[in-house]
Amino acid sequence: MEKRGLSSEEAVLLQQQFGLNQLPAPTPTRWWRKLLQQFNNTLIFILSIAAIFSVALSHWVDGGIIVAVILVNTVLGFIQENRAEKAVAALQSYLVEYSLVLRDGDWQKLPSTNLLPGDWVRIENGERIAADLHIREAYQLQVDESLLTGESVPVDKHLSNDNVQGILHAGTMVTRGSGVGEVFATGAATSIGHIQKLLAQTKPSQSPLLIRINRLSRWLGLGVFILAIIASLIAWMHDDSLEFAILAAISLAVAIIPEGLPAVISITLALGVQRMAQKGSIIRQLPAVETLGAVTVICTDKTGTLTENRMAVEDLRLAQENSESLHRALENMLLCNDAEISDAGQSSGDPLEQALIDYAYDADSALIHYQKRNRRLDTRPFDHESPYMATLHADRIAIKGAPEFVLQHCLQEQEQTDSFWQGVISEMANLGLRTIALAEADISRWSSLDQGRWRWLGVVALLDPPRQAVPAAIAACRGAGIRVIMVTGDHPRTAATIARQIGLVEAGSVRVVDHAQWLAASPAERQQLAREVNVFARVQPADKLELVETLQNNGEIVAMTGDGVNDAPALRRAQIGVAMGLSGSTVAREAAAMILTDDDFAHIASAVAEGRHIYNNIQRTVLFMLPTNFAQGMVIFIAVIFRMNLPITPLQILWINTVTAITLALVFAFMGADKALMQQLPRPVAQPLVPGILWRRITLVTIFLLLMVFAIFEAGSTFYDVVHARTLAVNGLMAMEGAVLLAMYGAWRNDRGDWILIGSLGAMILLQVLFSQLTFLQLVFQTTSMSLIDIGIIFFTALLAWLAARLIMHPQQMFTFKS
Ligand code: ADP
Ligand code: MG
Repeated sequence: MEKRGLSSEEAVLLQQQFGLNQLPAPTPTRWWRKLLQQFNNTLIFILSIAAIFSVALSHWVDGGIIVAVILVNTVLGFIQENRAEKAVAALQSYLVEYSLVLRDGDWQKLPSTNLLPGDWVRIENGERIAADLHIREAYQLQVDESLLTGESVPVDKHLSNDNVQGILHAGTMVTRGSGVGEVFATGAATSIGHIQKLLAQTKPSQSPLLIRINRLSRWLGLGVFILAIIASLIAWMHDDSLEFAILAAISLAVAIIPEGLPAVISITLALGVQRMAQKGSIIRQLPAVETLGAVTVICTDKTGTLTENRMAVEDLRLAQENSESLHRALENMLLCNDAEISDAGQSSGDPLEQALIDYAYDADSALIHYQKRNRRLDTRPFDHESPYMATLHADRIAIKGAPEFVLQHCLQEQEQTDSFWQGVISEMANLGLRTIALAEADISRWSSLDQGRWRWLGVVALLDPPRQAVPAAIAACRGAGIRVIMVTGDHPRTAATIARQIGLVEAGSVRVVDHAQWLAASPAERQQLAREVNVFARVQPADKLELVETLQNNGEIVAMTGDGVNDAPALRRAQIGVAMGLSGSTVAREAAAMILTDDDFAHIASAVAEGRHIYNNIQRTVLFMLPTNFAQGMVIFIAVIFRMNLPITPLQILWINTVTAITLALVFAFMGADKALMQQLPRPVAQPLVPGILWRRITLVTIFLLLMVFAIFEAGSTFYDVVHARTLAVNGLMAMEGAVLLAMYGAWRNDRGDWILIGSLGAMILLQVLFSQLTFLQLVFQTTSMSLIDIGIIFFTALLAWLAARLIMHPQQMFTFKS
């Protein structure tokens, strides 16, 4: 036979010649372009017009300040956007694809970017082809080449010299079968590289939350526009100068629209996505982050997710208890097996199959080379619809599969009856063991294998212990009002036992629904089952999709895990599709919103907690920003329409707005999670970001701030000149904003992240001191130094604001959503 695969020495040389197997990255957007994109923003637009007006009217100082504000806002937006982008880009590095490659005569798992021409690689159902390949072995291989051809019907592939049938292209998807291929082109040299289309990547989808915020901003903008026109008309009518009227209108707009919000939300989301990645869940679709917090049901696989997927054979029951049938069974375990154990003892492949190999070697060390000596001529791969695998060899067909299924296909020649074996299988399953039957058939039957006439060899029981963190995670979900449903292809009794062990169901009798019962149920009965049953066994992929749909019809928000190709529709249909990072197929991963790096169920629970945390932080930011922005804007509006002396000038409003944006507004983005986060019911998805009751509270806080600003200004005016009174009003307003923040923060406080609060309050105070005391800023903003009495007044106002905010917001009750 021809030489197979590369040696590591050859690989090193070829690597220098061919480089990495990856497509050239798209040229990233230049930084100055991104900076320019910041100007595509309502706030900046309004400000730019204001700057042009000011300069045209020779108000150099005003013009200069507005330009400075524009710069601060652009740079701030630019930095935050950049940071968010980096966080999302960093996730890509977690999503490395691996290939099983023949190097130095052993199958090794290598990153697909290391593939080189001449490498031999395994082709598995559900994987994306990593390079252009000549087929060397093919078992019922079918590929979806729609990426290249646009044709979505899968095409058959064979061992052939034909340039269509005998070749697999990088980027196409294996929809059936398995095989082996030899790489002939990598990276940019592949067909896909030639047409320069990008392989599926995480789509940059915008969060619905962000869309809602933008809509809120625009809606506010419209209202502000109308107010601004009214204000400037009135100002003009009363013969204030036209410039004043326009500047007043513009600063009104700037003050009310919470323009800093989208940037703060992006950064909050980015920080959350980063934290999730550290805790083992990679978000592929950003909108999933906020939906996660609203999840009411998690449907999860058993094997590998709830359990360790580290198996060991516990028991073997043979059809005939003699050494010859034992040997037949051991040989079968090695033949009908895709896993391999190298001479170095390294094993690769499915843990169940590895366990079988280990067991056979332990039982008889003479079998070490049996697997390599008895070449496989053909394969029927395992699939969930008919759960068995069969391999063709010179002297037999070796079969293994789900026991009930295998039993149906066996001859009735043995002494023990079917019901005897059913009993054995139930007994094993009751212990929580995974069962797998061994059988064989004559080679002449290869083409008509489905028609039965198999010979029963016996049944193996494997132990797959539950993961350690799972029981706590399930209890946490329960406490958080989230149901956990086990959905498994395994035996009903195995499922029930494991479910009991991990605390998914109460001890005692567990209700389990299997494929047949599900199939037989009417739609109404299914809705009932979906509400009451927590364990579904011997499930087929189509059932998963139906289960998701039924749950959704019951009004649930569903997270569903999956690993196989056939799970993709259910993953796509669920609000949160969760794929496995270790064991899952690429198809499943690409259909999912989230990926578990090490397949552990516990990470789903922590992702849900993180989803709630992020949502809270965003909601809190909004609750803080709205009243302060409204108050700033309304001060100007009311002063203009009632022809009062402006308590705060338009330029000073710009100052306040900018200082808030770079200090106070960021606090909630960094706030740690509440301890009671997972002791509350899921948030109803339909719940608006700012529920009605909170709008009323926001309005009250706004009115309070507004009255206070006028009160300070009027009081100041009786003792001081207008410049001094205004400085007092500005400092008073900033101090009150700080106090409102403190009041809200205090109510949600937990033990970490306080330094951000302290830092941002400190920075704000420092800026205000400069604003009042620094000669340069005094000239620019028309301010004056504050006396000790002034400072006392400012702190007193802050105290009042703190009390008012505490009282009005009743934050203790803010997040218990009673309808
Ligand atoms: P799970 O939901 O626990 O992952 P699967 O759908 O993977 O279950 O497996 C269902 C049943 O199919 C198992 O109980 C086992 O009997 C059988 N089975 C699993 N893997 C294989 C395999 N590689 N070859 C043959 N039979 C298998
Ligand atoms: Mg499985």
